[in-house]
Amino acid sequence: MIDIRKIWQETLSSLSGEITAVAYMLWLDSLEPLCVKDNVLILLAPSLNVKMTVNKNYKELIRKALLKNRNSFIDVDVIIDEEKSFFSDEIDAFHDGQIIINTEPVKKQSQFIQRYTFDNFVVGESNKLAFHAAQSVAQTPGSAEGFLSFNPLFIYGGVGLGKTHLLHSIGNYIYQNMPSLTVLYVPTEKLTNDYVEAISNNSSSDKAGGFNFQAFRKKYRDVDVLMIDDVQFLQKKTGLQEVVFHIFNDLYQNGKQIILTSDRPPKEIGTLEDRLRSRFEGGLLADIGAPNLEMRVAIIKKKMMNEKIAVNDDVIYYLAEQFDSNIRELEGALTKVVLYASLINRPYPDVGVAKEALRNSAPKKEGLDSSDIINAVSTYFRINKSDIIGKKKNKDIVEARMIAVYLVHELLNLPLVTIGQLFGGRDHTTIIYSRDKISAAVKENKDTARAIKDVKALLGL
Ligand code: ADP
Ligand code: MG
Repeated sequence: MIDIRKIWQETLSSLSGEITAVAYMLWLDSLEPLCVKDNVLILLAPSLNVKMTVNKNYKELIRKALLKNRNSFIDVDVIIDEEKSFFSDEIDAFHDGQIIINTEPVKKQSQFIQRYTFDNFVVGESNKLAFHAAQSVAQTPGSAEGFLSFNPLFIYGGVGLGKTHLLHSIGNYIYQNMPSLTVLYVPTEKLTNDYVEAISNNSSSDKAGGFNFQAFRKKYRDVDVLMIDDVQFLQKKTGLQEVVFHIFNDLYQNGKQIILTSDRPPKEIGTLEDRLRSRFEGGLLADIGAPNLEMRVAIIKKKMMNEKIAVNDDVIYYLAEQFDSNIRELEGALTKVVLYASLINRPYPDVGVAKEALRNSAPKKEGLDSSDIINAVSTYFRINKSDIIGKKKNKDIVEARMIAVYLVHELLNLPLVTIGQLFGGRDHTTIIYSRDKISAAVKENKDTARAIKDVKALLGL
């Protein structure tokens, strides 16, 4: 049963301190709660003037107060007599301002990335333990059933392999299926910032009302599920480790679920206090490895389907073969190809287009080589590769050539004679000259410094 008159009175009284008494009397006091439609509280204004003023100046305030007091409402709307007919059914349903309706609280805004769900996660050999553990934890968070404890769940693995995706999947699942549970996802950097803020607010008395230790504790201890992403960043932060240890114990003892991720297992996190390490290792350790070719292909296909993009099969395989250790890069490459293809008006890119799109971003297993560098310089200065290593002497070409020489020397550390050979059989003294000339120019000339920086960026450095 809800009583909208009572709710409105409460809302008004919580507003009275926020606006002047005159404004209150003129605009708010004359509003009458009429009915509720689709979780929006409908208020009747005595005149168009009141309606417009309230809408313009006070609606946001009312909305906030309302949401604070009763979270079964999502908004408020002001109407005048003439508009009553739109709401006749709802108005009829109210007797003396009271009605029995389903007052299930409206969900809080989800903090989780929507596309990171279990459904969108491709499962294979390399991640199935982590996936199933994450699913099981999402279904029965904090459960102590059975002899296999998933508390904490510690997921570890290299960059771009889906750890954050799994955390958000757990969050999304619980948000959908167990909305009454409080789930907090926090990257370790954010936890660190909160901690630093809490410390500084605690020590300065003028900020007593800010985010202090009490607020910090409330935020992290009043939860049913706590997920801390990338705990390797707790390294060396002894103060914070101590705090995490206590939060951990509190939650754990209260049967709350804890999930952690890291780019390495707990025992490889340097300067992690032993007691914290043993807590981290006390539940299930699940690693995620690099996906095999089949999984990479499946991941590309899934992404294509979700984002309604199309590339032909050759391109899928080309990408899956090139990008084998980081799914974020694999996805990034697909996006680049599709973007590039649309720029040059080729809706169904083939491998040729894909290669062109990825000219400067395809990772090589052996790392960078001289042709990558020459390619990048060629792209940056819009000068043909053959001219860069050739004999032409005009100023722009010579400058690009010297920069390429300089970068090959700096990045690859090859013998000068070898570099000379790469650049059309030049003598090593010419190479020394170019190298020294650019070394000096980098310090003196902004354009040169910028060019070097940009070419490195093209190389992913
Ligand atoms: P991590 O946190 O391990 O560095 P992320 O969770 O951020 O990696 O994943 C990087 C990207 O790869 C995300 O866009 C994610 O959706 C995607 N991804 C990772 N693993 C999978 C998978 N198994 N299936 C589908 N997409 C995945
Ligand atoms: Mg991550």
